[in-house]
Amino acid sequence: MNNSKVFVGLGSNMGDRLENIRFALMELANHPEIDVIKSSEVYESEPVGYTAQPFFFNAVLELETKLDPWELLDFTQELENLAGRERTFRWGPRSLDIDILFFGDLVLKEPRLVIPHPEIARRRFVLEPLVEIWRDARFPDGRLVSEALEDVSLDQVVWRVGDL
Ligand code: AMP
Repeated sequence: MNNSKVFVGLGSNMGDRLENIRFALMELANHPEIDVIKSSEVYESEPVGYTAQPFFFNAVLELETKLDPWELLDFTQELENLAGRERTFRWGPRSLDIDILFFGDLVLKEPRLVIPHPEIARRRFVLEPLVEIWRDARFPDGRLVSEALEDVSLDQVVWRVGDL
């Protein structure tokens, strides 16, 4: 089976946010069937949706893996649990959140897994780091991800913090 080119989004707004993001990077890199190809810088972002919670740290990674999407999701959810993520409520604070943004050209709409991740185009904190490491990314309908970044509201405050 060929390797798939995968992009994942990382987020943390509880505990040591940078440590949590680095934990995810290290654990993904240590997995025998995952290679980390690129990582974005770390960004800090104002929470969207439920706003009465701490600011997030976010980053995006490019991976190559032989895992299938379900196996990758199992692993990323294990990492979320290991990082002590307590599922408070939807959109609520979390020590580690890992979203599978793109999985090769795959388009999937299952209850447990939707790919590409449906919120990409609405979230500046995903679009900024994604475009940083993959300038010509496109959605399955051909639209450039960088165009979505131009369209997304500037009210969503996101800034670069530094290297991951
Ligand atoms: P959240 O609490 O917002 O991180 O949502 C977690 C839920 O989203 C889990 O139950 C996953 O099964 C589901 N999910 C659906 N699509 C994806 C995806 N592309 N990446 C990660 N989780 C996903």
